[in-house]
Amino acid sequence: MPLVLVSSDAFERHLTPPGHPERPERAHVFDAVATAWRAGGGEVRAPRPATLDELAAVHDREHLERIAGTAGRAAMLDPDTFTSPESYELARLAAGATLVGVDHAMAGGGPALVLVRPPGHHAERDRAMGFCLFNNAAVAAAYARRKGASRVAVVDIDVHHGNGTQQIFEDDPAVLYLSTHQYPCYPGTGAVTEVGVGEGRGRTVNVPIEPGAGDDDYAQVLAEVVVPVLTAFAADLTILSVGYDAHVQDPLAQMQVTTAGYRAMLAALRAAADAVSAGRLVVVTEGGYDLPALGACLEATVEVLAAPAGPAAPAASAAAPRASGPGVRGREAVAAALAVQRPFWPLV
Ligand SMILES: [Zn+2]
Repeated sequence: MPLVLVSSDAFERHLTPPGHPERPERAHVFDAVATAWRAGGGEVRAPRPATLDELAAVHDREHLERIAGTAGRAAMLDPDTFTSPESYELARLAAGATLVGVDHAMAGGGPALVLVRPPGHHAERDRAMGFCLFNNAAVAAAYARRKGASRVAVVDIDVHHGNGTQQIFEDDPAVLYLSTHQYPCYPGTGAVTEVGVGEGRGRTVNVPIEPGAGDDDYAQVLAEVVVPVLTAFAADLTILSVGYDAHVQDPLAQMQVTTAGYRAMLAALRAAADAVSAGRLVVVTEGGYDLPALGACLEATVEVLAAPAGPAAPAASAAAPRASGPGVRGREAVAAALAVQRPFWPLV
């Protein structure tokens, strides 16, 4: 089940104002990762633009028209979110890239790593927000449902809460949204008590974590909340919204995760997807603003996804709670999440 990358050097043409963290150089990091993969004999597929109908599965027509209206010009959509002349086209390409990944994974071809910008998880049904124009992971999840997946899990380990993805699926019992994020932090949503609404109650799992958490904290959260919920939900397809901005070097947040910590998280999540989704896994980039850390973490991600399917990495099980020290934030996050989520999931 070989890994496929979905990548295009076109993503460097989405321009943001000078000094903006979500900058074109991030696409150069993606290109370097894709070039190395191709040089080693790996397959890199070109993205295609998402159609308007594919976008309309998760966005209001009015929102699509508003973003389409920025074609050919620079616009400020909110204080953080900007377009350049080609941004509309490139945002459609980013969303469509995830669909190339879904097609590969759903066909049983193995995992896909989708390297895109602009990111997506802050984009809500009816608005652009937080550097995001269209919600790439949500477009992918809705597409997978139409392709026959009866249950789709979206796991979001970006350091920020994916308010858009949560909002889009909050009343949908067929799509699990599961997020680990720094809290308090932008965008302010993602409290542990947000569990979904209506028929979607229990299908939103938020694990807010205090600033300063590191590898051990995240390993504990994954081992005691994320992986058990994923296992119980048994999705046909697992989508990972992977932001690398929980990295210790990242300038936008205060987490302390190392590249080795990211490798361990990806290994644990891949093992879970192998176990319950038969390896049908699509990894989509979100944030990550320190370029060397972004590059190193993506290299680690490729290694994890390219490895033969096997037993879970040690990180999934080596998360024994600690009495004090770096594990305290993880322990507190787990305790809070378990208290809220036990009515919905077989959690110990
Ligand atoms: Zn982020």
